[in-house]
Amino acid sequence: MKNIKDYDLPSLKEELTNIGEKTFRAEQIFKWLYQEKVKSFDEMTNLSLDLREKLKQNYDICNFKILKKLESSDGTKKYLFDLTDGNAIETVLMEYHYGKSICVSSQVGCKMGCKFCASTGIPFIRSLTSGEIVEQILAVEQDTGDRISNVVFMGIGEPLDNYENVINAIKILNNPKGLNIGARHISVSTSGLVPRIYDLAEENIQCTLSVSLHASNDEKRSAMMPVNNAYNIETLMQACKDYIAKTNKRISFEYALAKDNNDNLDDAKQLVKLLKGMLCHVNLIPINKIENGKYIKSSNENIIKFRDYLNENGIVATIRRELGSDIDAACGQLRRKNLKS
Ligand code: SAH
Repeated sequence: MKNIKDYDLPSLKEELTNIGEKTFRAEQIFKWLYQEKVKSFDEMTNLSLDLREKLKQNYDICNFKILKKLESSDGTKKYLFDLTDGNAIETVLMEYHYGKSICVSSQVGCKMGCKFCASTGIPFIRSLTSGEIVEQILAVEQDTGDRISNVVFMGIGEPLDNYENVINAIKILNNPKGLNIGARHISVSTSGLVPRIYDLAEENIQCTLSVSLHASNDEKRSAMMPVNNAYNIETLMQACKDYIAKTNKRISFEYALAKDNNDNLDDAKQLVKLLKGMLCHVNLIPINKIENGKYIKSSNENIIKFRDYLNENGIVATIRRELGSDIDAACGQLRRKNLKS
């Protein structure tokens, strides 16, 4: 059966028209799901019993079950959610001074094969539906009673490899009649799927684009990220420049620093050359060691040197605070879990 949370408001209106109902019913349902956060059609008390019955026959309401929840000493929480098909995904809730930020997964597994990321070690199974993306937020809000103010697509999976569902989920999150999370508070991170970056530039959505760069020359980037063989740095940078020109929005570049790999002054110099004059920001991430991974974290001293060099040369760079590493919830530590294996 179709999951009612897979529809953004215009398509839900269409669905209701198709079953002979007035479109304002869609707004009522939307409100029940995303503002009242009910878990069943029976709780939608301003709909007639008939309509509730019809909805039950045609749609499911996907409600995640929490399989496991871990809490870090820094307040970060990691959830393992049951997708009801034998698969499970992880979602992370982080506390910042500006509010609560959730890191959502977009796929069960990942195809990208980045050498430093734990989500890679296990095969790709499938993409999440829009409803499954949105449900991660609803389920965490329900568990904690918190209102989530920021959403980052930085969990398991490559969001732009699940383009349609991710865009649709953003529309549901963003809708004032839905979860009402401002698009400026939503970030989508990509390993660099160039054609989809061009597609995203055409969408009328104000979300932030983060690009996982991690190296400033092709040799190093290809060694870390196989996607660089398909879209090299020059192609990626051109796409980013075109994206900025089209949207007038700042891109955030992620750069995970690994000792003796991409953290020396030459790397920083090449990075400055690449990014000079671009409307952008660099997010430096001390790389998190993963099981069987060969990359290890740069020293604090090197990380600070790297940041200072960028800042002194006109590139705004900050070091990402490490959250949740004691519960394997930090960047690159999320894994797909198959409950059957
Ligand atoms: N597939 C998307 C989003 C998921 S990863 C992407 O590649 O952007 C979110 C961020 O965490 C990416 O920048 C990713 O490169 C980074 N990351 C992955 N593994 C990491 C690790 N071990 N240490 C630090 N950052 C990591």
